[in-house]
Amino acid sequence: MPAKIRVLSDSVINQIAAGEIIENPASLIKELIENSLDAGSSKIQVDVHGGGHLFIQVIDDGCGMGRDDAILCFERHATSKISQFIDLSSLVSMGFRGEALASIGAVSKLELETAEQGTIGTKVICNGGKILRADPFSRTPGTTIRVSDLFYNVPARKKFQKSASQSTADIVKMLIRVSLAHREVSFTLNSNGKELISTSQKSEKRIEEVLGKEFLTDTKEIFWEKEGYKIRGVIGSPLNVRSNRLQEYLLINKRPVVSHLVERAIQSGFGTRIGSKDYPVFVLWMEVPPDMLDVNVHPQKIFVRFCEEEKMHHFVKTAIEESFYVEAKKIILPRFEMPEPAPAPCFVETTVEYQPSFELDKERLIQEEIEVIGFFEDVAIVKIPPPFFSEERLVFVDMAKLNSKVQFQRILGRLKEGKGGEMEQLLFPEVLKVSKNDEEVIIKHEDLLNKIGIGIRPFGKETFMIEALSPLYSLDKVRKVIDLLLIEFHKEFSLESVIKIVVNFSPPKILSKQDLKYLLLEALKMDEPFYAPNGKLIMASFDREEFFGKK
Ligand code: ADP
Ligand code: MG
Repeated sequence: MPAKIRVLSDSVINQIAAGEIIENPASLIKELIENSLDAGSSKIQVDVHGGGHLFIQVIDDGCGMGRDDAILCFERHATSKISQFIDLSSLVSMGFRGEALASIGAVSKLELETAEQGTIGTKVICNGGKILRADPFSRTPGTTIRVSDLFYNVPARKKFQKSASQSTADIVKMLIRVSLAHREVSFTLNSNGKELISTSQKSEKRIEEVLGKEFLTDTKEIFWEKEGYKIRGVIGSPLNVRSNRLQEYLLINKRPVVSHLVERAIQSGFGTRIGSKDYPVFVLWMEVPPDMLDVNVHPQKIFVRFCEEEKMHHFVKTAIEESFYVEAKKIILPRFEMPEPAPAPCFVETTVEYQPSFELDKERLIQEEIEVIGFFEDVAIVKIPPPFFSEERLVFVDMAKLNSKVQFQRILGRLKEGKGGEMEQLLFPEVLKVSKNDEEVIIKHEDLLNKIGIGIRPFGKETFMIEALSPLYSLDKVRKVIDLLLIEFHKEFSLESVIKIVVNFSPPKILSKQDLKYLLLEALKMDEPFYAPNGKLIMASFDREEFFGKK
């Protein structure tokens, strides 16, 4: 019987491999751009005609190749990158397999022009995997690759290609993702001679440059890290959701990728704030320890696999949850210059007010969920349930600040309704001597003073009588409070600034566990529940791992 098993020729193998890696012009260009990036390019230009079916050109200013490499790079499994790695597993994890150029060369007509710094360059012509010529050629350091007649020798594949305009759209989408992953490199894309994408090397502008300014409306920053995992980026508010995933951009270790695990974790971080078919917009850059990530689960390296799946899920979910509450907040004091922002985060400042999109079940929370563990001087140690904090976190609450926050809101609420607060008659009224100037403003704002709990009335020339006082202040501080209020009254002041002074002088209050729970509950329903009126943090949360390491 004649032998049935036949060894496939190299060109057939390359055509088969091409089918895996080079599905369409977009995937081909992606491979070429990855090579340009590996070559250390700072500028990469892509030109296409007919959606890439007719012509593709990628020009870079990277390290280029010498003559021998320019010929060798079309060999299957030819890669220069192996020598840079100590072991094969890290090589594979970076996705270097030396297959792309051999595959592309096998299914197209290709020209390569390349030169290394300070040498005469080389031009190679390769048709359907056969090298036809390799001549000296002069160009600046870098590489140009031109591909025409893609799939000319693979009719089956050619037949199933999308239209030129669909294919161009795929190329644009791919380039947006790649350019978000590599913000330090400038990219240009021209299609049929028309510029579609052009980016600067200013990384902080990248989102705006490729997705438009509008993308950043109603988004906020994420800034989170732990155990070598980092998450940075912007994410839309619960109101800024789409019905599909087209506005989701995930970049892990500088690769544009898709991960259903991350998608699910984001969804659960949003919890009940969004529906199950709502997709928040985001651009998230994540860093995962390289040995915890497998990029080679897919020929085009689009999907990734995490070695620590549960951890990854937990981290992403927590980062999103915490972003709703503990937003890095810049306190801008009048007359003070804002400090220069740190270079790392590079997004537009946007503020999203905390608005629970769910009803809190007050009784249930008080009775069961908020757990007061103990007190240390004026700090309480409590456990607060999700969605505010994740279960394993201990929350340290500064009770004086919590109290001032709640008082502040209560007074503000009352004043806005035109109501005053409770006052207690003083057994021995206090006499207050003031200047002529101050006398005028006190008379002008007598009503407001009464409403904030200072029962004051004129008592002869430049003299007033304090007859009643809110239990909020102690009598010995009232003179100080009035002095500060007078400073406000002499300028254009806001209700908030007045109340801030008042609550700063509230005497410390001993809270019972039950009082504390009520105050916490009241604060958690407010805007920015974690900040006192003076901008200071009321609660900080800790995870035992942060103190003691892993169990
Ligand atoms: P891999 O990227 O996995 O090494 P490729 O087939 O994509 O395999 O590329 C083969 C080799 O050709 C690379 O290892 C590199 O040495 C060289 N090469 C390809 N493109 C470029 C480029 N734009 N600039 C410099 N060298 C390149
Ligand atoms: Mg490559």
